Amino acid sequence: MSNYCATVLAGLGDGLLRLATRLSSEHKLGEVLIEVAACGVCRTDLHVADGDLKDLKQPIFPGYEIVGRVAAMGEGVEEFQAGGRVEVPWLGYTCGICGFCRDGRENLCPSAQFIGYQTDGGYAEYCLVDQ
Ligand SMILES: [Zn+2]
Repeated sequence: MSNYCATVLAGLGDGLLRLATRLSSEHKLGEVLIEVAACGVCRTDLHVADGDLKDLKQPIFPGYEIVGRVAAMGEGVEEFQAGGRVEVPWLGYTCGICGFCRDGRENLCPSAQFIGYQTDGGYAEYCLVDQ
């Protein structure tokens, strides 16, 4: 894949989104590349833009209410098919082995990462997410 355009939050707390070109990266084990069809705007996205949240990835591609189609998959991805329609939730990654994860309460996982906040989100043409 070639480079693609995305909005990127470049400054902490200035509330501005800037158009930028991002170099595509290779998808890794268990990752799915989503061609974004639409991404909603939530109050949390505004908190990200305003720099109100701690541990914010910088620069970040905000947006976590994502729908799109599977463009490519890394090794180990078996639940999706290329071209399949998907939605991407706020909770982007968990360890899968801690007590919270094993109890089905992944949102409390100490290793949890959230899309559009700690990992890049859907205000972009493509979004790379953990399966
Ligand atoms: Zn966990």
